[in-house]
Amino acid sequence: MNGMPGSIDAARAAALRRDLDALCDLGGRPAGSTGEAAAFEWIGQQLRDDLGVSFVLSPFEFPGWREESVRLELVDDLGLRLEARAIPYSASTPAAGVDAPLLDLGRGDPAQSCADEARGRIVLIEHEYMFSAETVHRSRKLAWAAEAGAAAVVLASPWPGGIAITGSAMPGFPLPVVAVDHETALCLRGARPGATLRLRVSTQQGPLTSHNLVADLFPGCERSIVLSAHVDGHGIAESAIDNASGVVTVLAAARQLRRRAEAARNGIRLCFFGAEEAGLLGSEHYLAGLAPHECAAIVADLNVDSVGSAAAMTAMTSGFSALQDVVRSGAEAAGLAVRTFLPFRQNSDHANFAQRGIPALRLVAGFDEPGSRASFVLTSHDTRDKVDLQGISDAVQLLCALVERLSDLDAPACTRLRFPPTESRSTT
Ligand SMILES: [Zn+2]
Repeated sequence: MNGMPGSIDAARAAALRRDLDALCDLGGRPAGSTGEAAAFEWIGQQLRDDLGVSFVLSPFEFPGWREESVRLELVDDLGLRLEARAIPYSASTPAAGVDAPLLDLGRGDPAQSCADEARGRIVLIEHEYMFSAETVHRSRKLAWAAEAGAAAVVLASPWPGGIAITGSAMPGFPLPVVAVDHETALCLRGARPGATLRLRVSTQQGPLTSHNLVADLFPGCERSIVLSAHVDGHGIAESAIDNASGVVTVLAAARQLRRRAEAARNGIRLCFFGAEEAGLLGSEHYLAGLAPHECAAIVADLNVDSVGSAAAMTAMTSGFSALQDVVRSGAEAAGLAVRTFLPFRQNSDHANFAQRGIPALRLVAGFDEPGSRASFVLTSHDTRDKVDLQGISDAVQLLCALVERLSDLDAPACTRLRFPPTESRSTT
């Protein structure tokens, strides 16, 4: 192991900094953008020139989305215009816009909201910290609003300071959805009950191309351990935590593991996915292209999404209880305190592996730490200054330790890893 936790050396820090800067210099890398394409090119360069590893870059088409214009007004206040942005995959309103009374749903928990009240209203729903056992995912709140017959959704940032928020509504979502900052939300809440809002949203939707990049560090092995990270992000910031941090971690782990002299039983496959933010589309496309025996040859997927944003890491193990033991022993070997979270969550690419019965985990920092920098994920503040290189270095050491634990498992041991999960892996 290179270096103990809490003691990242200058050379390692400089290398991580260089990689993080290279990705963040390309902007937020929305799926299908030139920034995302340039990031794939950069990753390919690192693999080819630095690691001497060949790779396959596969394009795929997906439903793209772009905001044209948004206008949000409080009609009763002489047309007071408010700052708002559409979130990805928001529907357009009719050209004249939608006039509807405002309804503040607070957190917007479907279990505590009344569908009859929401019908025909523009509902105000609070965005919430997403890395927590208690989180009600945005997709559930939005699906509820659509089912209830709301006219549109306004997502409110809970964090003061003009922090813009985003997050995808997923392709095909039927309602217009805009996001406002905390101060704008306060202004809306200060309006008289039932005040009329006017919302006009114009968006463009049409096919775009994203990519997946796959590389085998030790080709020719019967089985492989997949290390994955998504490359795409959001245009409102640098998508530094989410997920330049994951890409940098997987690359650094690959550099370290590539130096292994002795052959292991199981190989290492790097998967860099595109269009994760558009609904885990890159990993879905990759897995849909694998034959059953190829899926069976994946020992596990170790997916890194949003690290370096808090001191403590959590491995979300998607119901695979045997993976918990692997994490515990890997964390001990790396000298790190790592939490495990067993229930399945469909919040990154590991979910597509898990749903095919492949043991899969997501490594994330800041789980249940709403005060950590992880709260800047999906906001205009997800910039490189929020990423701590020590945290990335710890994630690299953990990832390498997990790979070591899985490297020499034989076929029966790999089968045991797949034992039926303790919780159903249906969609959350
Ligand atoms: Zn992510």
